[in-house]
Amino acid sequence: MEIVRETGHSGRRGTEIGDDAADGRFFLQKTLAAAVTFGGIGIHCGTKVSVTLHPAPPGFGIAFMRSDEGSGELIPARWDRVVNTRLCTTLVGDGGSHVGTVEHLLAALAGCEIDNLVVEVDGPEIPIMDGSAAPFVALIDDAGCEEQNAPRRVIRVRKPVTVSDGHGTASLRPENGFTLRIDIDFENPIISRQSLSLALVNGTFKRELARARTFGFLDQINQMQAAGFARGGSLENAIVVGGEGILNHGGLRFEDEFARHKALDAVGDLYLAGAPISGAFHGIRSGHEINNKLLRALFADSEAWSENVLRWDELDHSASESAACGDVVQSVAVGT
Ligand SMILES: [Zn+2]
Repeated sequence: MEIVRETGHSGRRGTEIGDDAADGRFFLQKTLAAAVTFGGIGIHCGTKVSVTLHPAPPGFGIAFMRSDEGSGELIPARWDRVVNTRLCTTLVGDGGSHVGTVEHLLAALAGCEIDNLVVEVDGPEIPIMDGSAAPFVALIDDAGCEEQNAPRRVIRVRKPVTVSDGHGTASLRPENGFTLRIDIDFENPIISRQSLSLALVNGTFKRELARARTFGFLDQINQMQAAGFARGGSLENAIVVGGEGILNHGGLRFEDEFARHKALDAVGDLYLAGAPISGAFHGIRSGHEINNKLLRALFADSEAWSENVLRWDELDHSASESAACGDVVQSVAVGT
């Protein structure tokens, strides 16, 4: 007997998973064990916003909802809902409801392996917190995770896909599990060239990426604020690079914090695939816009990807430390 997943709210096609799960060992979908509420400043609107993360049923996916608009419209966290990637990732719903600065929360959800969630927010953007994903990971850890009675799906890359925009390049190629490589190359001597390669498994995100903060250049931040952007931006929620060095008192959290933050952004941007990706990502001077372009190119070619269950044997289990919510493998009888 094959299991066929129901088409969820996002309208994604149903997926036959029977053959792929024939060995009976795969991961289960997860949601939060309880709702959790927090508040913070929106980096662009500059006002306080409140967010509640609500558990959602299996197969639901991640969706946002603007409680201040009263329509109850759900905005699916999907690549084809992205409308603006210049300064942050903004998603729009069918009825025009929109939500911005979703990328760091999505990175935390990807890193903590949360599949199903409703993110209720009472303003136009998700709070910036400290500019990293660590506060979101801590909230998810506090709320706890709950496994659900449905196998976790994965978007498996079947053939290489590359996009460029004249400045940067982003690519995906087939590989078991999810690995990423980031190369950045800034003219600014304080950042300059940095490279980072890692596999996202067994707590890598929490340990290596979650604490890396967003960053900006002092002169650009002044220009942005004059134009009405980054009104909530401060040394409390971003690394600020001035002419003489880093302006933040404590300095950097990692020597290569800039490259790590670009990796964090890529993890969040790629979670807009609607499920974790099994493949190798490589970004050269990449950012939100080109990451979204990459997903659009991937899904435009039906031979470049497939949607299957995430098999236990696809991941490297050599590391012993568990992820934020645990890497628990389940034996579930299917194909009987
Ligand atoms: Zn970012």
